[in-house]
Amino acid sequence: MDFKKYVASVKDFPEPGIIFRDISPLMYNGEVYSAATDKIVDYARERGTEMIVGPEARGFIVGCPVAYKLGVGFAPARKKGKLPRETVSVTYDLEYGQASLYMQTDAVKPGQKVLVVDDLMATGGTLAATIKLVEELGGIVVGTAFLIELTDLHGRDKIKNYDMFTLMQY
Ligand code: IMP
Repeated sequence: MDFKKYVASVKDFPEPGIIFRDISPLMYNGEVYSAATDKIVDYARERGTEMIVGPEARGFIVGCPVAYKLGVGFAPARKKGKLPRETVSVTYDLEYGQASLYMQTDAVKPGQKVLVVDDLMATGGTLAATIKLVEELGGIVVGTAFLIELTDLHGRDKIKNYDMFTLMQY
């Protein structure tokens, strides 16, 4: 299946000079969404995944159906002020400024084999931050998976020690 046909490339969003890769058309089409999910499910099985972790918000869209299909749990990494119980957090640099992600301390069990999933990897900053949270909780990151990898930004170099599956590259 030509998955790229279902990604809309939007020029100058959210800022001039940026090409935003919008996965909405892929999600709107049940057959394509399901086929894309199955590719990540196959990879997750190969890696022995016991738990899926996805960062807010599109990490939920990609990660939750994978968790459902595998019959494993899903834990969100969320922005500030969203999680009601005890959390661990990480602050990381964005192009302009900083961002923080949080996970509840009982989200991942020590020794649990975790797959980190998101829609897209750009600089790898969000992924590195999510990995840090999982490891702080004692989880073992057995792999990472994305629908899209923006290869020019060399995000892979930031997370050399982790296995990665990406369905599409731009
Ligand atoms: P990174 O931290 O620089 O790797 O950016 C990845 C995060 O930003 C992911 O959570 C993506 O959802 C989001 N993101 C960055 N660029 C795009 C894009 O072109 N399309 C969709 N999401 C994007």
